[in-house]
Amino acid sequence: MGQKIGIMGGTFDPIHIGHLILGEAAQQQFGLDKVLYMPAGNPPHKRNREGRATDVQRTEMVRIAIQDNPHFELSLMEMNEDGYSYTYRTLERFKAEYPENEYYFIIGADSLYDFDQWKEPQRICNAGHIICATRNQTPSEEFQALLEKRRQQYHGDFLLLDSPNLDISSNNLRKMIAEGRSVRYYIRYDVIRYIEENRIYRS
Ligand code: ATP
Ligand code: MG
Repeated sequence: MGQKIGIMGGTFDPIHIGHLILGEAAQQQFGLDKVLYMPAGNPPHKRNREGRATDVQRTEMVRIAIQDNPHFELSLMEMNEDGYSYTYRTLERFKAEYPENEYYFIIGADSLYDFDQWKEPQRICNAGHIICATRNQTPSEEFQALLEKRRQQYHGDFLLLDSPNLDISSNNLRKMIAEGRSVRYYIRYDVIRYIEENRIYRS
């Protein structure tokens, strides 16, 4: 019997509650057997930048954040040495290895806007479903229209996630930490502790 697998890809620099709420909402709404959290590797020129976490630290933060959710799993599939990974390759690899499974790639509205600039969007659509969450207060009609546009463009299965607009981004959280402001409740306490212990994002 095949499984329904969600994939939540991102840089997770750092992982915040938006990422976790999306995975949970997708698991519930679409009856997913599990959701894979898949941190993307940084290409060499983007590694060890000031004010950013290392690949190891981003992976560790994801591991800590998802540890108590039985549906969530860490996947290092996109943590490769050269740092370049493409969603279509990841999905095609999974499909080749487990043809009986259905894959659901989970993205926010900003990623859906960019989608036609991704590598091989058509092949992404051929290999799986795409679950889309609203973001940045995108008006509902505008978001629905964009979903419809993408469906027609790629004959893909673009699904609307029933989730609230979550005004939260890693970029903003990095700034808050650098300024010494509290990020309590935006990031899990155990991830905050890891960030503090390792002095990440402190400029
Ligand atoms: P950054 O600000 O550094 O870009 P981010 O908060 O956007 O970080 P990413 O790791 O870039 O986080 O996001 C991974 C995926 O999660 C993307 O598809 C993104 O659209 C989605 N996502 C992240 N935060 C939210 C949010 N608050 N609401 C909806 N989708 C989100
Ligand atoms: Mg982003």
